Amino acid sequence: MKRPLLLASIIATISLTLVPVGATFGGSGSNPRFLTLPFPQTEDMRIQDGWWRGDMDLHRGLDYIRGRVDRPATWQSFPVIAAASGKVCAGSGSEDRTCIQGVGKHVMIRHRKDGRTYYTYYGHLRKIAPEIPVGTDAYETKVKRGQIIGWAGKTGNPGTATHLHFEILTGPGQWLDPYDIYGYAAAYPAPADPRDRACGPDHFWRECPPAPYVPVEDEPPPEGDGPSRVGVGDASTLAIRADAALRLTMGRRRTPRRA
Ligand SMILES: [Zn+2]
Repeated sequence: MKRPLLLASIIATISLTLVPVGATFGGSGSNPRFLTLPFPQTEDMRIQDGWWRGDMDLHRGLDYIRGRVDRPATWQSFPVIAAASGKVCAGSGSEDRTCIQGVGKHVMIRHRKDGRTYYTYYGHLRKIAPEIPVGTDAYETKVKRGQIIGWAGKTGNPGTATHLHFEILTGPGQWLDPYDIYGYAAAYPAPADPRDRACGPDHFWRECPPAPYVPVEDEPPPEGDGPSRVGVGDASTLAIRADAALRLTMGRRRTPRRA
């Protein structure tokens, strides 16, 4: 689901100028792959809309739902987790001072990877995790991959149903397709299906199909971010244990839908 049309059209203009289609961000083929799925793996998670650009509009993120794609009334809230470690900024849509813009309750995480800066955005949250300060004007609080940052909702877009709007950016107005596919939802892969590895060469998932966060890893802290003013709990207590017995499947929508 997208943000209000006016904002979308403004952003579309900016985006068409700044985002090179199919650009290689890793330079000499060293595209960093550092994202895991931004939610715990359950068998009823689906992609409801993909990353796409039309003649007059665009959807610069991925919409994830928990429920049946063709029945918005079934879409349930779910925990939203950090797709990689970094530093966080959050807003509720009403602050004058915040380091990110957005509608509804939203969280942005700044990541440093291979000397580059990336951002992941999590929009329309029902609730932001209490450990995350809202309305600050800087990225000062660390979060770890897999840590709960909020719960999916529809704030800022009450005309829609509960979902997570997820984005990855390299800077203001510079959105990327995490899958490097650049198409409608039907073009995106079913991660649990080894026959359908649809990620492009410059995808940002650590694996293709994208994998959920598994809290058994020895990951160094985010590089180059300096000390944190406020710690955000212990990821080992906040992290979601992915259930390997459950498979993530992605919904397939054959007709483009821009709502
Ligand atoms: Zn969306």
